[in-house]
Amino acid sequence: MSNEVIWKTNTVEAVETEALAEKVGRVLKGGEAIELVSDLGGGKTTFVRGLVRGLGSTDKVSSPTFTISKVYKTDTRTVHHFDFYRLPEPGIMAAELDEVLGNPEDIVVVEWPEVVSDVLPVDRLTITFNQSNDGRSITFKSTNKLGYLIEAAKE
Ligand code: ADP
Ligand code: MG
Repeated sequence: MSNEVIWKTNTVEAVETEALAEKVGRVLKGGEAIELVSDLGGGKTTFVRGLVRGLGSTDKVSSPTFTISKVYKTDTRTVHHFDFYRLPEPGIMAAELDEVLGNPEDIVVVEWPEVVSDVLPVDRLTITFNQSNDGRSITFKSTNKLGYLIEAAKE
């Protein structure tokens, strides 16, 4: 009945977030869209760092807050890392995002996705980071089609 996969875990250190992301990065095929939801400092960019490493890229990951988008490459894949922090409307970025979302070799990762939520595909992985006194919970949610990403994170 349900077309949804959901899994929640807890982390206390950034290296745990990176390790989870690295496991997801290892099983990326290309064509996936991932949105990262949290307050400022929740661990979104940290997650991208692990994801890109898991995919096999040695490119340096940093926050694209001021550039809005960054690109990391492996021999066969490209990761487009968007950050829409405080962007009141996506403007030209919506077209850029839409273009790369159509590419089966590319992986799209979006921080602060709210402003582009109607551009993102229904089949996407949503990762939500919540900070509390006991650490940070990370909740993975996707449609069944992308369930393999969550299965990989669990291992
Ligand atoms: P965001 O991109 O959501 O603003 P960052 O990934 O830049 O957040 O992380 C902000 C800070 O929190 C960094 O110093 C990072 O090392 C730290 N951090 C990230 N994930 C965790 C975690 N699970 N536990 C503790 N600290 C973390
Ligand atoms: Mg960030």
